[in-house]
Amino acid sequence: MHCPFCSTEETKVIDSRLVSEGYQVRRRRECTNCRERFTTFETAELITPKIIKTDGLREPFNEDKLRRSIQHAVGKRPVSEDDVEKSVGHIIHQLQATGEREVPSKLVGNLVMDELKKLDKVAYIRFASVYLSFENINEFSKEIEKLKE
Ligand SMILES: [Zn+2]
Repeated sequence: MHCPFCSTEETKVIDSRLVSEGYQVRRRRECTNCRERFTTFETAELITPKIIKTDGLREPFNEDKLRRSIQHAVGKRPVSEDDVEKSVGHIIHQLQATGEREVPSKLVGNLVMDELKKLDKVAYIRFASVYLSFENINEFSKEIEKLKE
């Protein structure tokens, strides 16, 4: 990285250590030209992308909304709160892993369906029937058939 004092391109790392309980790397660097020393910090950039709605509007990702839609789908089904939390965490992790600043709402919907499929088939069908807004009974039974495979 360039030296902030003389803009020389060559700087070398003279010390590197983990700080913030291991979530950050602190590096002491020295300029090979002017010999000035400076410190850099490196952290993982974890951004939960904004959601692009079907009408094109953007809205911030809403964890509560995600949790509520999963809870709604698993209502009165044998699924624990703990499992719901794990699914929420898993979906957020996958969204952050995209590295994108914005993702279509369809992606979130698909991730929810993947999680529900693992949690409870009835909950999955409940969610899918609303989310995919099945036009007719054929589409509905097609989705049921897919689950049996
Ligand atoms: Zn320098």
